[in-house]
Amino acid sequence: MIVMKFGGTSVQDARAIERAGAIVTGRLEQRPVVVVSAMAKVTDQLLAMARAAGAGDRKTALKLCRSLQERHYNTAGELLGTALFTQFHGDLGADFETLEELLRGIAAVGELTPRTTDYVSAFGEILSSKIVAAAFSALGMKSALVDSRDWLVTDSAHMRAAPLFEETNQRLQSRVAPLVAAGKVPVMGGFIGSSKAGITTTIGRGGSDYSAAIAGAGLGAERIEIWTDVDGMMTTDPRLCADARRIKVISFDEAAELAYFGAKVLHPATVLPAVQKNIPVYILNSGNPECEGTRITARAPRCRNSFKAIAVKKRITIVDVAAPRMQLAHGFLSSIFAAFDRHRVAVDVVSTSEVSVSLTVDSNESIPPLAADLAKLADVKYEGRKAIVCLVGENLRDTPGIAARVFGELADVKIRMISQGASEINLTFVVEEDVVSDVVQRLHKTFFSDLDPEVFA
Ligand code: ADP
Ligand code: ASP
Ligand code: MG
Repeated sequence: MIVMKFGGTSVQDARAIERAGAIVTGRLEQRPVVVVSAMAKVTDQLLAMARAAGAGDRKTALKLCRSLQERHYNTAGELLGTALFTQFHGDLGADFETLEELLRGIAAVGELTPRTTDYVSAFGEILSSKIVAAAFSALGMKSALVDSRDWLVTDSAHMRAAPLFEETNQRLQSRVAPLVAAGKVPVMGGFIGSSKAGITTTIGRGGSDYSAAIAGAGLGAERIEIWTDVDGMMTTDPRLCADARRIKVISFDEAAELAYFGAKVLHPATVLPAVQKNIPVYILNSGNPECEGTRITARAPRCRNSFKAIAVKKRITIVDVAAPRMQLAHGFLSSIFAAFDRHRVAVDVVSTSEVSVSLTVDSNESIPPLAADLAKLADVKYEGRKAIVCLVGENLRDTPGIAARVFGELADVKIRMISQGASEINLTFVVEEDVVSDVVQRLHKTFFSDLDPEVFA
Protein backbone atom coordinates (compact mmCIF):
# COMPACT_ATOMS: atom_id res chain seq x y z
CA MET A 1 0.00 0.00 0.00
CA ILE A 2 1.24 3.49 -0.80
CA VAL A 3 -0.07 6.98 -0.06
CA MET A 4 -0.10 9.50 -2.92
CA LYS A 5 -0.73 13.14 -2.01
CA PHE A 6 -1.54 15.69 -4.71
CA GLY A 7 -1.07 19.35 -3.80
CA GLY A 8 -3.12 22.34 -4.92
CA THR A 9 -1.49 22.89 -8.30
CA SER A 10 -1.64 19.15 -9.02
CA VAL A 11 -5.47 19.33 -8.85
CA GLN A 12 -5.91 22.94 -9.96
CA ASP A 13 -8.06 22.25 -13.03
CA ALA A 14 -9.51 19.44 -15.12
CA ARG A 15 -6.28 18.82 -16.98
CA ALA A 16 -4.26 18.58 -13.77
CA ILE A 17 -6.81 16.17 -12.24
CA GLU A 18 -6.67 13.99 -15.35
CA ARG A 19 -2.89 13.96 -15.12
CA ALA A 20 -3.11 12.94 -11.45
CA GLY A 21 -5.57 10.21 -12.49
CA ALA A 22 -3.10 8.85 -15.03
CA ILE A 23 -0.33 8.83 -12.41
CA VAL A 24 -2.51 6.94 -9.92
CA THR A 25 -3.66 4.49 -12.61
CA GLY A 26 -0.02 3.67 -13.28
CA ARG A 27 0.40 2.60 -9.65
CA LEU A 28 -2.79 0.62 -9.04
CA GLU A 29 -0.80 -2.54 -8.35
CA GLN A 30 0.78 -0.82 -5.36
CA ARG A 31 -2.72 -0.21 -3.89
CA PRO A 32 -2.71 3.60 -3.61
CA VAL A 33 -4.55 5.71 -1.07
CA VAL A 34 -4.97 9.23 -2.47
CA VAL A 35 -4.89 12.43 -0.41
CA VAL A 36 -5.72 15.73 -2.13
CA SER A 37 -5.36 19.41 -1.28
CA ALA A 38 -7.92 22.01 -2.17
CA MET A 39 -7.57 23.24 -5.77
CA ALA A 40 -4.80 25.87 -6.02
CA LYS A 41 -5.59 29.18 -4.22
CA VAL A 42 -8.97 27.92 -2.96
CA THR A 43 -8.00 27.91 0.73
CA ASP A 44 -6.81 31.52 0.39
CA GLN A 45 -10.12 32.47 -1.23
CA LEU A 46 -12.16 30.69 1.44
CA LEU A 47 -10.24 32.53 4.14
CA ALA A 48 -10.76 35.82 2.30
CA MET A 49 -14.52 35.28 2.14
CA ALA A 50 -14.63 34.25 5.80
CA ARG A 51 -12.77 37.46 6.74
CA ALA A 52 -15.08 39.57 4.58
CA ALA A 53 -18.12 37.99 6.22
CA GLY A 54 -16.54 38.47 9.65
CA ALA A 55 -16.13 42.17 8.87
CA GLY A 56 -19.84 42.30 8.00
CA ASP A 57 -19.23 42.57 4.25
CA ARG A 58 -21.76 39.98 3.12
CA LYS A 59 -21.78 41.13 -0.47
CA THR A 60 -18.05 40.54 -1.03
CA ALA A 61 -18.17 37.20 0.79
CA LEU A 62 -21.02 35.90 -1.35
CA LYS A 63 -19.45 37.19 -4.54
CA LEU A 64 -16.22 35.31 -3.79
CA CYS A 65 -18.26 32.24 -2.93
CA ARG A 66 -20.06 32.31 -6.29
CA SER A 67 -16.85 32.59 -8.25
CA LEU A 68 -15.53 29.59 -6.34
CA GLN A 69 -18.73 27.70 -7.14
CA GLU A 70 -18.34 28.48 -10.81
CA ARG A 71 -14.75 27.24 -10.87
CA HIS A 72 -15.68 23.95 -9.18
CA TYR A 73 -18.73 23.42 -11.41
CA ASN A 74 -16.70 24.09 -14.54
CA THR A 75 -13.95 21.71 -13.49
CA ALA A 76 -16.43 18.96 -12.58
CA GLY A 77 -18.36 19.53 -15.81
CA GLU A 78 -15.23 19.21 -17.91
CA LEU A 79 -14.14 16.05 -16.14
CA LEU A 80 -17.44 14.21 -15.90
CA GLY A 81 -19.34 14.94 -19.08
CA THR A 82 -23.02 15.92 -19.07
CA ALA A 83 -24.67 12.73 -17.81
CA LEU A 84 -22.41 12.18 -14.82
CA PHE A 85 -22.22 15.86 -14.00
CA THR A 86 -26.00 16.09 -13.77
CA GLN A 87 -25.99 13.51 -10.96
CA PHE A 88 -23.06 15.14 -9.24
CA HIS A 89 -24.32 18.70 -9.58
CA GLY A 90 -26.79 18.37 -6.69
CA ASP A 91 -24.10 17.12 -4.32
CA LEU A 92 -21.77 20.07 -5.03
CA GLY A 93 -24.74 22.43 -4.98
CA ALA A 94 -25.67 21.31 -1.46
CA ASP A 95 -22.12 22.07 -0.26
CA PHE A 96 -22.23 25.55 -1.74
CA GLU A 97 -25.64 26.16 -0.16
CA THR A 98 -24.20 25.22 3.22
CA LEU A 99 -21.20 27.46 2.64
CA GLU A 100 -23.41 30.39 1.65
CA GLU A 101 -25.59 29.93 4.67
CA LEU A 102 -22.53 29.86 6.86
CA LEU A 103 -21.18 33.09 5.34
CA ARG A 104 -24.52 34.82 5.83
CA GLY A 105 -24.48 33.70 9.45
CA ILE A 106 -20.95 34.98 10.02
CA ALA A 107 -21.82 38.31 8.36
CA ALA A 108 -24.96 38.67 10.47
CA VAL A 109 -23.03 38.14 13.69
CA GLY A 110 -20.04 40.12 12.39
CA GLU A 111 -17.59 37.87 14.18
CA LEU A 112 -15.23 35.24 12.87
CA THR A 113 -13.91 32.69 15.38
CA PRO A 114 -11.19 30.10 14.74
CA ARG A 115 -13.86 27.42 14.91
CA THR A 116 -15.97 29.03 12.17
CA THR A 117 -12.84 29.74 10.14
CA ASP A 118 -12.14 26.00 10.12
CA TYR A 119 -15.68 25.27 9.09
CA VAL A 120 -15.27 27.56 6.07
CA SER A 121 -11.72 26.64 5.05
CA ALA A 122 -12.50 22.90 5.17
CA PHE A 123 -14.70 23.31 2.09
CA GLY A 124 -11.62 23.44 -0.15
CA GLU A 125 -10.66 19.84 0.56
CA ILE A 126 -14.28 18.66 0.91
CA LEU A 127 -14.97 19.86 -2.65
CA SER A 128 -11.69 18.83 -4.26
CA SER A 129 -11.87 15.29 -2.84
CA LYS A 130 -15.41 14.89 -4.19
CA ILE A 131 -14.44 16.09 -7.65
CA VAL A 132 -11.25 14.00 -7.77
CA ALA A 133 -13.05 10.84 -6.57
CA ALA A 134 -15.77 11.30 -9.20
CA ALA A 135 -13.21 12.04 -11.90
CA PHE A 136 -11.19 8.93 -11.02
CA SER A 137 -14.40 6.83 -11.32
CA ALA A 138 -15.08 8.41 -14.68
CA LEU A 139 -11.56 7.37 -15.70
CA GLY A 140 -12.45 3.78 -14.86
CA MET A 141 -10.89 3.49 -11.41
CA LYS A 142 -12.75 1.95 -8.48
CA SER A 143 -12.42 5.06 -6.34
CA ALA A 144 -14.05 5.53 -2.95
CA LEU A 145 -14.61 9.00 -1.51
CA VAL A 146 -13.67 9.22 2.18
CA ASP A 147 -14.50 12.28 4.28
CA SER A 148 -11.28 12.84 6.25
CA ARG A 149 -13.29 14.18 9.17
CA ASP A 150 -14.31 10.54 9.70
CA TRP A 151 -10.75 9.37 10.36
CA LEU A 152 -8.46 12.29 11.28
CA VAL A 153 -9.33 12.93 14.93
CA THR A 154 -7.70 16.01 16.44
CA ASP A 155 -7.75 18.15 19.54
CA SER A 156 -9.86 21.31 19.48
CA ALA A 157 -7.08 23.83 18.76
CA HIS A 158 -8.84 25.25 15.73
CA MET A 159 -6.74 26.29 12.71
CA ARG A 160 -3.73 24.34 14.03
CA ALA A 161 -5.26 21.25 15.53
CA ALA A 162 -2.99 18.40 16.60
CA PRO A 163 -3.86 14.83 15.64
CA LEU A 164 -4.86 12.33 18.31
CA PHE A 165 -2.93 9.39 16.98
CA GLU A 166 -4.50 6.49 18.82
CA GLU A 167 -8.05 7.31 17.79
CA THR A 168 -6.91 8.34 14.29
CA ASN A 169 -4.99 5.12 13.68
CA GLN A 170 -7.92 3.02 14.85
CA ARG A 171 -10.22 4.80 12.45
CA LEU A 172 -7.76 4.45 9.58
CA GLN A 173 -7.77 0.70 10.23
CA SER A 174 -11.53 0.41 10.53
CA ARG A 175 -12.62 2.85 7.81
CA VAL A 176 -9.87 3.15 5.22
CA ALA A 177 -7.92 -0.14 5.28
CA PRO A 178 -11.01 -2.25 4.35
CA LEU A 179 -11.54 -0.13 1.22
CA VAL A 180 -7.97 -0.83 0.11
CA ALA A 181 -8.42 -4.53 0.91
CA ALA A 182 -11.54 -4.51 -1.29
CA GLY A 183 -9.46 -3.24 -4.22
CA LYS A 184 -10.71 0.33 -4.06
CA VAL A 185 -8.74 3.58 -4.28
CA PRO A 186 -9.74 5.77 -1.32
CA VAL A 187 -9.71 9.48 -2.17
CA MET A 188 -9.67 11.84 0.79
CA GLY A 189 -9.00 15.50 1.52
CA GLY A 190 -5.89 16.56 3.40
CA PHE A 191 -5.78 19.40 5.95
CA ILE A 192 -9.18 18.65 7.56
CA GLY A 193 -10.21 16.56 10.51
CA SER A 194 -12.64 16.70 13.39
CA SER A 195 -12.46 16.91 17.15
CA LYS A 196 -13.72 14.07 19.33
CA ALA A 197 -17.02 15.95 19.55
CA GLY A 198 -17.25 15.84 15.75
CA ILE A 199 -16.54 19.54 15.12
CA THR A 200 -14.58 20.29 11.91
CA THR A 201 -10.93 21.24 12.49
CA THR A 202 -7.89 21.97 10.29
CA ILE A 203 -4.28 21.12 11.03
CA GLY A 204 -2.53 24.29 9.78
CA ARG A 205 -1.69 25.79 6.39
CA GLY A 206 0.08 23.41 4.06
CA GLY A 207 -1.12 20.55 6.25
CA SER A 208 -2.21 18.15 3.51
CA ASP A 209 1.36 16.78 3.42
CA TYR A 210 1.00 16.04 7.12
CA SER A 211 -2.39 14.34 6.57
CA ALA A 212 -0.76 12.10 3.97
CA ALA A 213 2.03 11.16 6.37
CA ILE A 214 -0.42 10.48 9.20
CA ALA A 215 -2.45 8.24 6.89
CA GLY A 216 0.70 6.52 5.61
CA ALA A 217 2.00 5.81 9.10
CA GLY A 218 -1.40 4.69 10.41
CA LEU A 219 -1.97 2.35 7.50
CA GLY A 220 1.60 1.02 7.45
CA ALA A 221 2.28 2.25 3.90
CA GLU A 222 5.41 1.16 2.03
CA ARG A 223 5.99 4.71 0.84
CA ILE A 224 4.48 8.16 0.92
CA GLU A 225 4.55 10.20 -2.28
CA ILE A 226 4.10 13.97 -2.19
CA TRP A 227 3.18 15.08 -5.73
CA THR A 228 3.74 18.79 -6.31
CA ASP A 229 4.77 21.36 -8.94
CA VAL A 230 8.57 21.08 -8.74
CA ASP A 231 10.91 18.17 -9.51
CA GLY A 232 11.61 17.51 -5.85
CA MET A 233 13.31 19.15 -2.93
CA MET A 234 15.76 21.61 -4.50
CA THR A 235 18.97 23.17 -3.25
CA THR A 236 16.90 26.31 -2.66
CA ASP A 237 13.48 27.69 -3.57
CA PRO A 238 13.55 27.77 -7.40
CA ARG A 239 11.40 30.90 -7.29
CA LEU A 240 14.22 32.69 -5.50
CA CYS A 241 17.17 31.29 -7.44
CA ALA A 242 16.89 29.98 -10.98
CA ASP A 243 20.03 27.87 -10.51
CA ALA A 244 18.39 25.66 -7.87
CA ARG A 245 19.10 21.96 -8.48
CA ARG A 246 17.26 18.81 -7.44
CA ILE A 247 18.40 16.90 -4.38
CA LYS A 248 18.18 13.18 -5.18
CA VAL A 249 18.33 11.90 -1.63
CA ILE A 250 18.19 13.62 1.75
CA SER A 251 17.83 12.47 5.35
CA PHE A 252 14.67 12.87 7.42
CA ASP A 253 16.51 15.22 9.78
CA GLU A 254 17.76 17.49 7.02
CA ALA A 255 14.37 17.57 5.27
CA ALA A 256 12.59 18.38 8.52
CA GLU A 257 14.99 21.24 9.26
CA LEU A 258 14.55 22.68 5.76
CA ALA A 259 10.77 22.40 5.95
CA TYR A 260 10.73 24.06 9.35
CA PHE A 261 12.79 26.99 8.07
CA GLY A 262 10.63 27.71 5.07
CA ALA A 263 11.07 25.10 2.31
CA LYS A 264 7.36 25.16 1.60
CA VAL A 265 7.58 22.10 -0.63
CA LEU A 266 7.12 20.00 2.51
CA HIS A 267 5.06 20.74 5.62
CA PRO A 268 7.42 20.68 8.65
CA ALA A 269 5.49 18.04 10.58
CA THR A 270 5.29 15.67 7.64
CA VAL A 271 8.36 13.62 8.22
CA LEU A 272 7.59 12.87 11.86
CA PRO A 273 5.06 10.06 11.41
CA ALA A 274 7.18 8.72 8.55
CA VAL A 275 10.36 8.65 10.67
CA GLN A 276 8.63 6.84 13.48
CA LYS A 277 7.66 4.03 11.12
CA ASN A 278 10.72 4.38 8.88
CA ILE A 279 8.58 4.90 5.77
CA PRO A 280 10.42 6.58 2.89
CA VAL A 281 8.88 9.81 1.60
CA TYR A 282 9.25 10.87 -2.04
CA ILE A 283 8.70 14.34 -3.47
CA LEU A 284 7.61 14.14 -7.09
CA ASN A 285 6.44 16.46 -9.87
CA SER A 286 2.93 15.78 -11.21
CA GLY A 287 3.84 17.90 -14.26
CA ASN A 288 6.92 15.75 -14.92
CA PRO A 289 6.13 12.28 -13.52
CA GLU A 290 9.13 10.65 -15.23
CA CYS A 291 11.52 12.56 -12.99
CA GLU A 292 12.67 10.44 -10.05
CA GLY A 293 12.18 13.31 -7.56
CA THR A 294 13.66 13.42 -4.07
CA ARG A 295 13.83 10.44 -1.73
CA ILE A 296 13.77 11.22 1.99
CA THR A 297 15.13 8.38 4.09
CA ALA A 298 16.34 7.71 7.61
CA ARG A 299 20.02 7.88 6.55
CA ALA A 300 21.31 9.79 3.57
CA PRO A 301 24.58 8.83 1.84
CA ARG A 302 27.68 10.89 2.53
CA CYS A 303 27.90 14.05 0.48
CA ARG A 304 30.92 15.99 -0.77
CA ASN A 305 29.15 19.33 -0.51
CA SER A 306 29.07 21.25 2.76
CA PHE A 307 25.31 21.76 2.60
CA LYS A 308 22.28 20.04 1.10
CA ALA A 309 20.15 23.15 0.72
CA ILE A 310 19.34 26.71 1.75
CA ALA A 311 15.88 27.46 3.13
CA VAL A 312 14.40 30.92 3.46
CA LYS A 313 11.58 32.14 5.63
CA LYS A 314 10.33 35.62 4.86
CA ARG A 315 7.88 37.81 6.77
CA ILE A 316 9.74 37.51 10.04
CA THR A 317 9.61 39.89 12.99
CA ILE A 318 12.42 40.22 15.52
CA VAL A 319 11.27 40.80 19.09
CA ASP A 320 13.93 42.26 21.41
CA VAL A 321 13.31 42.00 25.12
CA ALA A 322 15.79 43.98 27.22
CA ALA A 323 15.95 43.63 30.98
CA PRO A 324 17.77 45.69 33.58
CA ARG A 325 21.38 44.46 34.04
CA MET A 326 21.79 40.94 35.42
CA GLN A 327 18.10 40.33 35.45
CA LEU A 328 18.56 37.61 32.88
CA ALA A 329 20.15 35.40 35.50
CA HIS A 330 17.22 33.70 37.04
CA GLY A 331 13.68 33.04 35.96
CA PHE A 332 13.68 35.81 33.39
CA LEU A 333 13.94 33.57 30.32
CA SER A 334 11.24 31.27 31.57
CA SER A 335 8.88 34.20 32.13
CA ILE A 336 9.54 35.41 28.58
CA PHE A 337 8.89 32.01 27.08
CA ALA A 338 5.81 31.65 29.24
CA ALA A 339 4.44 34.82 27.64
CA PHE A 340 5.03 33.42 24.14
CA ASP A 341 3.35 30.24 25.25
CA ARG A 342 0.30 32.04 26.64
CA HIS A 343 -0.14 33.84 23.33
CA ARG A 344 0.55 30.63 21.41
CA VAL A 345 3.22 32.36 19.34
CA ALA A 346 5.97 30.06 18.07
CA VAL A 347 9.60 31.18 18.21
CA ASP A 348 12.08 30.16 15.50
CA VAL A 349 15.47 31.66 16.37
CA VAL A 350 16.69 32.84 19.77
CA SER A 351 19.83 34.66 20.87
CA THR A 352 20.70 36.15 24.24
CA SER A 353 23.14 38.53 25.88
CA GLU A 354 23.60 39.57 29.47
CA VAL A 355 20.85 42.11 29.19
CA SER A 356 18.60 41.09 26.36
CA VAL A 357 16.96 38.33 24.42
CA SER A 358 16.13 38.49 20.72
CA LEU A 359 13.59 36.12 19.26
CA THR A 360 12.10 35.76 15.81
CA VAL A 361 8.44 35.11 15.14
CA ASP A 362 6.34 34.81 12.03
CA SER A 363 4.92 38.25 11.17
CA ASN A 364 1.52 36.65 10.59
CA GLU A 365 1.23 36.14 14.34
CA SER A 366 -0.53 38.85 16.24
CA ILE A 367 2.40 40.48 17.97
CA PRO A 368 1.00 43.63 19.69
CA PRO A 369 -0.88 41.75 22.47
CA LEU A 370 2.21 39.62 23.09
CA ALA A 371 4.43 42.72 23.21
CA ALA A 372 2.06 44.36 25.67
CA ASP A 373 2.31 41.33 27.90
CA LEU A 374 6.12 41.22 27.62
CA ALA A 375 6.32 44.93 28.41
CA LYS A 376 5.29 44.07 31.96
CA LEU A 377 8.63 42.24 32.31
CA ALA A 378 11.08 44.44 30.45
CA ASP A 379 11.58 46.87 27.57
CA VAL A 380 10.23 45.45 24.34
CA LYS A 381 10.90 46.42 20.75
CA TYR A 382 9.83 44.66 17.63
CA GLU A 383 10.79 45.10 14.02
CA GLY A 384 9.31 43.41 10.96
CA ARG A 385 10.48 42.81 7.37
CA LYS A 386 13.20 40.36 8.29
CA ALA A 387 14.03 36.99 6.76
CA ILE A 388 15.60 33.84 8.12
CA VAL A 389 18.22 32.09 6.01
CA CYS A 390 18.98 28.52 7.01
CA LEU A 391 21.76 26.36 5.55
CA VAL A 392 21.25 22.68 6.21
CA GLY A 393 23.51 19.66 5.90
CA GLU A 394 24.79 16.84 8.05
CA ASN A 395 28.37 17.74 7.14
CA LEU A 396 28.07 20.81 9.40
CA ARG A 397 28.57 18.44 12.35
CA ASP A 398 32.18 17.70 11.61
CA THR A 399 33.54 20.24 9.13
CA PRO A 400 35.49 23.05 10.78
CA GLY A 401 35.47 26.51 9.26
CA ILE A 402 32.14 26.37 7.45
CA ALA A 403 30.66 29.31 9.32
CA ALA A 404 33.69 31.43 8.44
CA ARG A 405 33.16 30.67 4.75
CA VAL A 406 29.47 31.57 4.94
CA PHE A 407 29.96 34.88 6.72
CA GLY A 408 33.11 35.69 4.78
CA GLU A 409 30.96 35.54 1.69
CA LEU A 410 28.49 37.96 3.28
CA ALA A 411 31.03 40.38 4.74
CA ASP A 412 29.08 43.40 3.47
CA VAL A 413 25.66 42.23 4.69
CA LYS A 414 24.13 43.32 7.96
CA ILE A 415 23.45 40.09 9.88
CA ARG A 416 20.96 40.50 12.68
CA MET A 417 21.01 37.18 14.53
CA ILE A 418 23.03 33.97 14.19
CA SER A 419 22.35 30.52 15.50
CA GLN A 420 24.16 27.26 15.11
CA GLY A 421 24.25 24.16 17.19
CA ALA A 422 20.72 23.42 18.25
CA SER A 423 20.38 20.55 15.83
CA GLU A 424 24.04 20.39 14.70
CA ILE A 425 22.88 20.32 11.10
CA ASN A 426 21.75 23.88 10.51
CA LEU A 427 23.40 27.27 10.40
CA THR A 428 20.77 29.96 10.66
CA PHE A 429 20.85 33.74 10.52
CA VAL A 430 18.53 36.69 10.08
CA VAL A 431 18.84 39.49 7.52
CA GLU A 432 16.69 42.31 6.19
CA GLU A 433 13.99 40.92 3.94
CA ASP A 434 14.94 43.14 0.99
CA VAL A 435 18.44 41.63 0.68
CA VAL A 436 17.48 38.00 1.14
CA SER A 437 17.26 36.96 -2.50
CA ASP A 438 20.70 38.47 -3.18
CA VAL A 439 22.10 36.69 -0.11
CA VAL A 440 20.67 33.35 -1.21
CA GLN A 441 21.91 33.70 -4.77
CA ARG A 442 25.43 34.48 -3.58
CA LEU A 443 25.52 31.60 -1.11
CA HIS A 444 24.06 29.26 -3.71
CA LYS A 445 26.80 30.17 -6.13
CA THR A 446 29.48 29.60 -3.52
CA PHE A 447 28.25 26.31 -2.10
CA PHE A 448 26.32 24.68 -4.97
CA SER A 449 28.34 25.36 -8.11
CA ASP A 450 30.22 22.09 -7.97
CA LEU A 451 27.80 19.34 -6.96
CA ASP A 452 28.28 15.78 -5.72
CA PRO A 453 26.58 13.71 -8.45
CA GLU A 454 25.59 11.00 -5.94
CA VAL A 455 23.35 13.44 -4.09
CA PHE A 456 22.32 16.14 -6.58
CA ALA A 457 20.85 15.95 -10.09
P1 ADP B 1 1.66 21.98 -3.05
O1 ADP B 1 0.52 22.84 -3.42
O2 ADP B 1 1.91 20.87 -4.04
O3 ADP B 1 1.63 21.50 -1.63
P2 ADP B 1 3.54 24.06 -2.31
O4 ADP B 1 3.30 25.34 -3.01
O5 ADP B 1 3.09 23.91 -0.90
O6 ADP B 1 2.96 22.88 -3.23
O7 ADP B 1 5.10 23.71 -2.36
C1 ADP B 1 5.79 23.72 -3.59
C2 ADP B 1 6.59 25.00 -3.72
O8 ADP B 1 7.57 25.05 -2.69
C3 ADP B 1 7.41 25.10 -4.98
O9 ADP B 1 6.66 25.61 -6.05
C4 ADP B 1 8.56 26.04 -4.57
O10 ADP B 1 8.36 27.38 -5.00
C5 ADP B 1 8.51 26.04 -3.05
N1 ADP B 1 9.81 25.72 -2.44
C6 ADP B 1 10.40 26.40 -1.44
N2 ADP B 1 11.59 25.89 -1.13
C7 ADP B 1 11.78 24.82 -1.94
C8 ADP B 1 12.84 23.87 -2.10
N3 ADP B 1 13.94 23.88 -1.36
N4 ADP B 1 12.68 22.91 -3.06
C9 ADP B 1 11.58 22.86 -3.82
N5 ADP B 1 10.55 23.75 -3.71
C10 ADP B 1 10.64 24.72 -2.79
N1 ASP C 1 -5.30 23.62 1.28
C1 ASP C 1 -4.50 23.80 2.47
C2 ASP C 1 -3.65 25.05 2.33
O1 ASP C 1 -3.67 25.69 1.28
C3 ASP C 1 -3.66 22.62 2.81
C4 ASP C 1 -2.63 22.21 1.77
O2 ASP C 1 -2.77 22.56 0.61
O3 ASP C 1 -1.68 21.52 2.14
O4 ASP C 1 -3.01 25.43 3.26
MG1 MG D 1 2.13 22.39 0.24
